[in-house]
Amino acid sequence: MQFRQGLYILAMFVIVFGLWNTRVFAFSRPITFPVDGASTFRDDFGEPRGANGERKHLGVDIIADKLTPVVAAVDGVVSDVVSPEATWGYAVTIKDNAGYKYIYLHLNNDTPGTDDGLGGEAGAYAPGIKVGAKVKAGDLIGWVGDSGDAEDTGSHLHFEIETPKKVNINPYESLVLALKSGGSEVGPRLAVGDKGEEVRRLQIKLANAGFYNEEITGNFGPITKSAVTRFQKSKGLEPVGQVGPKTRAALSKV
Ligand SMILES: [Zn+2]
Repeated sequence: MQFRQGLYILAMFVIVFGLWNTRVFAFSRPITFPVDGASTFRDDFGEPRGANGERKHLGVDIIADKLTPVVAAVDGVVSDVVSPEATWGYAVTIKDNAGYKYIYLHLNNDTPGTDDGLGGEAGAYAPGIKVGAKVKAGDLIGWVGDSGDAEDTGSHLHFEIETPKKVNINPYESLVLALKSGGSEVGPRLAVGDKGEEVRRLQIKLANAGFYNEEITGNFGPITKSAVTRFQKSKGLEPVGQVGPKTRAALSKV
C-alpha cells in the first residue's frame, strides 16, 4: 500500500471515530427506564474506575434511594442472577429477543432502614426473579441498593447494555430516550391528586391516543383517571387508573 493511500484510510478512520464519539452514530436501544422512582444520572460511561483508574466504567450509574423499585428495561428472559459477588453484589441480567443483555448491579442487600448487609435474596430480587423467568418491560425485578463495591459509594443502580457480540455500549442515550418517550419524567407514579407538568404531558398523550377530550389542566382528577383506565384496558394492561412504568411504556408508543 502506498503511503498516501494509508494516509487517506487513517483520515477516514479518524473522521468516523470522531463522529462516533460525538454521538452522531451513537447507538441506543428502546428501553423502559429501569428505575421506577426519583433518580439522577449523567453520562459516566467509560470513566476510569479502580484505585488507579485501571478499569473502564462499562455502564451508567443511576443514583436513587435504597429500595427504589428496579424494573425490567425490556421484554426478555432473566439470564443470570448473581448471589452476591464482591464487586457486583446482588445482580441480575435480562436478555432480550435480539440477544442484547441488560445488566443490573448493586441491588439491595440490607434490611430496610439499615446498612446491615442482611437483606438476603428476598431483599434484592422481586419474587419469581430467577434464571429462565420471563419478564415484560416495566415488571418489578428488584430494588436499588449498595451491595458489592457500592457499599462505599452510596446506593445506585449500575446499568449496562451488552450487544450480542459482548460489547458494552453506552446506555446513556437509551436512558435519555426512555425518559423523553415516556410521556412523563421518571418519578413517582401518577395518580389522582397529582398536579403539574407531568400530568399535563400525560393528558396530551391520552388526548393524542383518543382517550381524553377535556381541557389539558395538569390536574389528575377523576376524568384523567377514567382516561388512563380506558387506555390501560385497550392495551391489555391492568386497569388501575394510575401511571406506572408499564403504562408509561405503552404511552410512549402512542
Ligand atoms: Zn457503575
